[in-house]
Amino acid sequence: MSATAIHDSVLVPRYGEASLADLLPSVLACLGVAGETDRLGLALDVDHVCVLLVDGLGALALAENAATAPFLTGLPAATLTAGFPSTTATSLTTLGTGLPPGEHGILSYLLRLPGQDRLFNTLRWRLHGEGPKVDALTAFAPEHVQPRPSAFERAIAAGIPAVQVAPGYQNGSGLTRAGWRGGDFRPTYSVGDLLDGVLRAVGSAPKTLVYTYHSELDTTGHARGPATRAWRFELAHVDRIAAELAARLPARSALIVTADHGMVELVDRIDFDTHPELPDGVAELGGEPRARHVYTRDGAAADVAATWRAVLGADFLVRTRAEAVEAGWFGPVAGEFTSRIGDLVVAALGTSGIVRTAAEPVQTMMVGHHGSLTAAEQLVPLRIHRT
Ligand SMILES: [Zn+2]
Repeated sequence: MSATAIHDSVLVPRYGEASLADLLPSVLACLGVAGETDRLGLALDVDHVCVLLVDGLGALALAENAATAPFLTGLPAATLTAGFPSTTATSLTTLGTGLPPGEHGILSYLLRLPGQDRLFNTLRWRLHGEGPKVDALTAFAPEHVQPRPSAFERAIAAGIPAVQVAPGYQNGSGLTRAGWRGGDFRPTYSVGDLLDGVLRAVGSAPKTLVYTYHSELDTTGHARGPATRAWRFELAHVDRIAAELAARLPARSALIVTADHGMVELVDRIDFDTHPELPDGVAELGGEPRARHVYTRDGAAADVAATWRAVLGADFLVRTRAEAVEAGWFGPVAGEFTSRIGDLVVAALGTSGIVRTAAEPVQTMMVGHHGSLTAAEQLVPLRIHRT
């Protein structure tokens, strides 16, 4: 692939126009919540909205597998950009708050919080690596790490019940409290139970907002790859779930199917842990293989940038914090969150990634990855069925 072609494949998230951050504000506006704007032009004339978040369902992969997902691909096709990095913890918070990452502060899977020498895992909501045990929900209260109101809180303030239907481990989790606080929680024990839970919640009041989450497509893609038979079998299940919901939702409902990111198969692995040059001057390596936050030692940022650019070449975008912010990767960045961003931000192109064979052996082994700015990772579906 030529350098120009690589450049063309980079999508800067379309915050404010067609991104995951714009979905719930638009939904709230359609439900009549004052102060919210239908930025996506959804113009839904409905009383009930169910948002089904399918973890790891890229819009390009969906379109390429129309025969496997006839219900979803039979709905009008639109896409959103997930945001940067295109990773679950960031995107679920973007969706749940209606804010770009720079405004909600969950800027990565692994990021540095001010005053901490250990990185913080936002997906599991715990300090990363070796060290004393810390009660992270107390020491890093989600309402403090992500202080802005959730879309659920805004719905409830407007008198609209909001319900999350999801696996029980998400009930009261750090990530739920960061992005989805304020709503009722209905734990699910299986896909069948998820369908039942959604159908109990939608229409249980004059207006309702329901959010539900499906994880196994992402897991399958990580383990087996995003273009495999296993992935397509799982996609068929997702399609069936959406079709069952659409057939049973009450009148004046909308089912909105979207995702937190797509996925690419990782082919070229560059190992940070054994590399002779990349670790020089690096204090901590955050993020994940397709989107790294590089926290450098004091005064080393310029040298590290020069080394990383020389070593990584055209397969990666190596940006300073200021350059990444200026390019709009995170959207507008609140001053209090700036220091959470790496001194360098490194986005993978093509099929490359920066892995860690010693520190992150499981992640290194995974086939499918996401996090970066390519269309396969950034574009997520926006498919809407109205009853
Ligand atoms: Zn994933």
